[in-house]
Amino acid sequence: MPVSIAPDIPKTHIPTQIPLPTGLPIGDVNAYLFLEPEPVLLDTGINSTDSLVALRRALNHYGLTFADLSKVIISHPHVDHFGLSGAIAAESRATFHIFEPAVPWLADYPHPWATRLHYYVRTLFKQLNLPTDIVDPILTYYQSIQSAGSAVPAERVFPLRANQQVQMGPLSWRILHTPGHTSTLTCFYQPETRQFLSTDMLLRQTPTPIVEQPLPGAPRVPCLPQFIQSLQTVRQLNIDIVYPGHGRPFTDHRALIAAQLKRITHRKEECLALIKAGHTEVAPMLLTMYPQYPPPFRFAALWMLIGYLDLLKQEGRILEETTRGVLRYRPA
Ligand SMILES: [Zn+2]
Repeated sequence: MPVSIAPDIPKTHIPTQIPLPTGLPIGDVNAYLFLEPEPVLLDTGINSTDSLVALRRALNHYGLTFADLSKVIISHPHVDHFGLSGAIAAESRATFHIFEPAVPWLADYPHPWATRLHYYVRTLFKQLNLPTDIVDPILTYYQSIQSAGSAVPAERVFPLRANQQVQMGPLSWRILHTPGHTSTLTCFYQPETRQFLSTDMLLRQTPTPIVEQPLPGAPRVPCLPQFIQSLQTVRQLNIDIVYPGHGRPFTDHRALIAAQLKRITHRKEECLALIKAGHTEVAPMLLTMYPQYPPPFRFAALWMLIGYLDLLKQEGRILEETTRGVLRYRPA
């Protein structure tokens, strides 16, 4: 339990970790519960029967049901973090709070999901010239997981704003906007007790910088460079304990961040070496850098590879060109 890692902090000030099954390769996702002065839940788990049963059981352990929750905070609009929101809303009067630009993911799901998938199919996968044996398993997976999210009535969804405070337990937590894993991810920092709810911003294993549909008329936002900036921001915080969105709480966030930055640099150089060796397109680079990846989950490898290419472009070490609608790369 977190209590043993942070012995000096009163128990009521510490988020209670509730691991919930996702049925996905990532394993359990963590919701966090604060009991006093009112029951507040951070993240919900995925919309599945197993997850629903596990969350009900965890709340029951503290003498609570969904109806007792006053507030549900959502760290970011990924199905494993907000999926059960609809079920909780149906049985409670809880209000739901999510970073302002992500409000439509809660209030209008699955519309933003469909828009993203449309961008992948109609634009991104074509630009990358991915063959069907790469694209089809990814799309089958994405379509199958749509039902893992759920909507909340719009009038019960309220925006969180960066650098403001949110009350969770007896203390106020600062809302930090740390894009990278997704453009709308927030994590929560409690400076007096030096606690950090990192959600999926800082995990033991580097979170995937998920490529998102650009705003209309705008270019795609490079998410791995954004993620690195967020790592630098979090690195400077005085943190004694990190409560992540997946896995057990941990300490020494600076060592972890250093290791992740080192690994990203290493893989980026491998990517550059492939381009120098004559690779010009994404698909062969993907299969070379991630030969063992199970095809349905290859999107995670694809998002990392696109991140390395974004970094190399920003550093001016490769050039990206479009030939007949297909993106190609060469050394600068
Ligand atoms: Zn996530």
